[in-house]
Amino acid sequence: MAKVYNFSAGPAVLPHEVLATAQAELLDWHGSGMSVMEMSHRGKEFMEIIHEAEQDLRELLQVPAGYKVLFLQGGASQQFSMVPLNLAPADGVIDVLDTGHWSKLAIKEAKRYTNVNVVASSSDRNYAYVPTVESWQRSPNAAYFHYTSNETIGGLQYSDIPELGATPLVCDMSSDFLSREIDVSKFGLIYAGAQKNIGPSGLTVLIVREDLLGHAQPQTPTMLNYQIHADADSMYNTPATYPIYIAGLVFKWLKARGGIKGIQARNDEKAGLLYHAIDSSDGFYYSHIDAPYRSKMNVVFRLKDDALEDVFLSEAKKNGLVQLKGHRSVGGMRASIYNAMPIEGVKSLVHFMLDFARQHG
Ligand code: PMP
Repeated sequence: MAKVYNFSAGPAVLPHEVLATAQAELLDWHGSGMSVMEMSHRGKEFMEIIHEAEQDLRELLQVPAGYKVLFLQGGASQQFSMVPLNLAPADGVIDVLDTGHWSKLAIKEAKRYTNVNVVASSSDRNYAYVPTVESWQRSPNAAYFHYTSNETIGGLQYSDIPELGATPLVCDMSSDFLSREIDVSKFGLIYAGAQKNIGPSGLTVLIVREDLLGHAQPQTPTMLNYQIHADADSMYNTPATYPIYIAGLVFKWLKARGGIKGIQARNDEKAGLLYHAIDSSDGFYYSHIDAPYRSKMNVVFRLKDDALEDVFLSEAKKNGLVQLKGHRSVGGMRASIYNAMPIEGVKSLVHFMLDFARQHG
């Protein structure tokens, strides 16, 4: 087990147990004589895999009746087009909250297909907070409201679920999906790229309320039409079979660890340890995000002396702590501590940070 602690924002660390199961099953899945990668997506073996993955996900999130679960491709980025094409009329309007990099991309893309009203933005303070619901300038008849629950690059998390009456909530949950309990019935649509808390890249998971299907704009390409994928149970064309298989193993791994409630408690503990190390460093390390909005998945922090950042990264690497460099647009450090990051990894990082601050402070 010559593994490092991998703090990458995605593709990210996967549970060791999942990788070990995948390895054991690689050449011969459950006596089928072949690898999951080689199976027909319409064969009974793969049908069993995808069906079980969906059932386990439904169980984990207690997805209510009346919602479709879809396993799509194209990444979360493709949803920036699919959501407006399917849920908004070209001459209608959607409301969007701007909390950083990923909201901005969603806004830019949606503008190709409909009118976009940005209800509020925290760009005035470099995305250090989330504007309160009371300050939002909502449109009277938005087709839906879109927000990013966790800004992976900025390290900003919005854990409230806004109450917006009849306006359907659409959430890009790519980087905090399955990390905390949510009431799915409050949402019209949730989407998440897989490569953080679900499995390998190449898969996007969607949970969508059925009454929102069937209203796509007429020019919507077949492959971008939710109804097509929903009618075919994600089998309109060949789905990302291997990522779906791994996602299924991750769902089982979560279930065996107390489900979402269990993982949420561990995520709180991990984030608590790391932010405590930052806040008690006498300013050697600092976070620019207002405390209530600090992400529990992507802990973004800087060093008071930014000339030390490269030393920090190379020393960390020598200690088996890798992928800690922040996104180039933000700088500094980013420790992504998704579900699969063991608490030992976080403790090891905290230990290193304290040592480093002692040596260089
Ligand atoms: N939204 C968020 C919040 C993300 O973190 C990412 C990827 N890091 C994306 C969208 C885009 O995802 P993809 O690369 O799967 O298109």
